[in-house]
Amino acid sequence: MRNKIWFYLLCVAHLGISGYFWFNTSGTHTDNTANVLLGLGRLSGLLLVDVILLQVMLMGRARWLESVFGLDKLAKVHRFAGKWITILLLAHPILLTLAYQNFTGAGFLSQLWDFQVSFEDVWHASIGFAFFLFVIVYSILMSRRKWDFERWYWAHLSVYAAIILAFGHQTAVGGDFLGSSPIFNNIPELTWFTLYWYIVHAFVFGNLVWYRICRPLWNYYLHGFTVSTIKNETPDVWSLYITGKNISSFSYTPGQFVIIRFLAKGYYWQAHPFSLSCYPNTEYIRLSIKASGDFTKTIGRLPIGTKAYIEGPYGTLTAKKSQTNKVLMIAGGIGITPFRGIIEDLGKAGKDIHLIYGNKTEADIALRTELEELAQKYNIRIHHVLSNVEANSLQLTAGSFESFSTGFVTPELIQQLVPDVANREAFLCGPPPMMDALFKTLTGLGVPPKKIYFEKFAL
Ligand SMILES: Cc1cc2nc3c(=O)[nH]c(=O)nc-3n(C[C@H](O)[C@H](O)[C@H](O)COP(=O)(O)OP(=O)(O)OC[C@H]3O[C@@H](n4cnc5c(N)ncnc54)[C@H](O)[C@@H]3O)c2cc1C
Repeated sequence: MRNKIWFYLLCVAHLGISGYFWFNTSGTHTDNTANVLLGLGRLSGLLLVDVILLQVMLMGRARWLESVFGLDKLAKVHRFAGKWITILLLAHPILLTLAYQNFTGAGFLSQLWDFQVSFEDVWHASIGFAFFLFVIVYSILMSRRKWDFERWYWAHLSVYAAIILAFGHQTAVGGDFLGSSPIFNNIPELTWFTLYWYIVHAFVFGNLVWYRICRPLWNYYLHGFTVSTIKNETPDVWSLYITGKNISSFSYTPGQFVIIRFLAKGYYWQAHPFSLSCYPNTEYIRLSIKASGDFTKTIGRLPIGTKAYIEGPYGTLTAKKSQTNKVLMIAGGIGITPFRGIIEDLGKAGKDIHLIYGNKTEADIALRTELEELAQKYNIRIHHVLSNVEANSLQLTAGSFESFSTGFVTPELIQQLVPDVANREAFLCGPPPMMDALFKTLTGLGVPPKKIYFEKFAL
């Protein structure tokens, strides 16, 4: 909670400080249309950089920020804020060109061209502008046509080039920067606003470099993560046991996930998120991965001994969320992975737990033996729901703490399996469409939305 307040305070303080500099230079000049357009053009430029820096911050995986909001929620805000970038990106050059047209009397296009030839930094910024437009168009097409995630990811990284290209023109020709008072009289270009701008950029990119590069490198050095065993859990799920030095000091809370990059031929350029499907121990960390796309399909062939570069742990879906004694957990397919550790924590805390676990067939049930062992130790009942099995062909091989049903996880089935569902809090994990549907189902069954905890398997 404290970090959340700090983050909001930081945003408000930043808007206040940059608003103050803008107001002192541009905001007070409202005597004619040209000046109003100029002020708005500059404001849109400042806000554009603010939103871009916010985007970098949201995706910088800073632990202090992620531990409060969760990466999935930060990613959601990141997608939403992307729309503002488009609006401000177009508004900034259009408003400034309209303003200068009023001063010079030139046509719109010739005024725009004049900016490019008069200022080298503006020319660089225009290339940055083109990069941004490329990423925006690519992202829209990607979401509509379901293009390859990796190609989109690498194209998306060109925004960093755009940020670098656009940076110079802000402090070199930006009226609000040049109009602020110089810190030293003999260096007129170093104004208070320019200094502040450098500090803000240093903070944002410092966080990015620290959390995405330095910390994982440090973890790699400290633990030397190595894939030591790969075990088939089901026909299309593999568990990777990753060992290394001082594994017990790699601290995580059950339910969290890591972003992993395997240092092997063909794998270097991809980093993917996977939940830790184990309980903290001194020997290994484990990921259980389902073959769902190009990358995950190859996991079973990963050479033993492959080194791994690990970012994290991340995630807020842990047993710490739980506030009452009665819990319902619903997992779809590979969504069971974060639950493996959470359920042990909840069990140890003496909670009364029902787990509904949906799969296509009995053979697709991952981590079944471990769940059964936990059910023997703690107050856990497991209800398997198999969608690709006819009710009359169900062969019961159920353990003492398991039951089986066929079909989908419908409101009627939940009510039948867990009659006191309305008095429980719920943990959900599975594919995003299933989670959305389950959220509605559970609220319909009387579970308060605030008592439904989930983290989507999508960033
Ligand atoms: C917090 C979290 C925890 C997860 N835990 C598990 C787990 O324990 N076990 C498991 O099998 N799966 C897990 N996943 C899903 C797993 O990350 C994707 O299935 C995997 O990245 C798909 O990669 P692919 O190239 O094989 O498939 P693709 O077909 O290329 O991708 C399928 C979808 O996965 C997502 N995706 C792909 N690559 C990435 C990436 N590099 N970063 C983020 N998202 C990506 C995209 O939404 C994409 O549309 C988790 C996802 C998240 C967000």
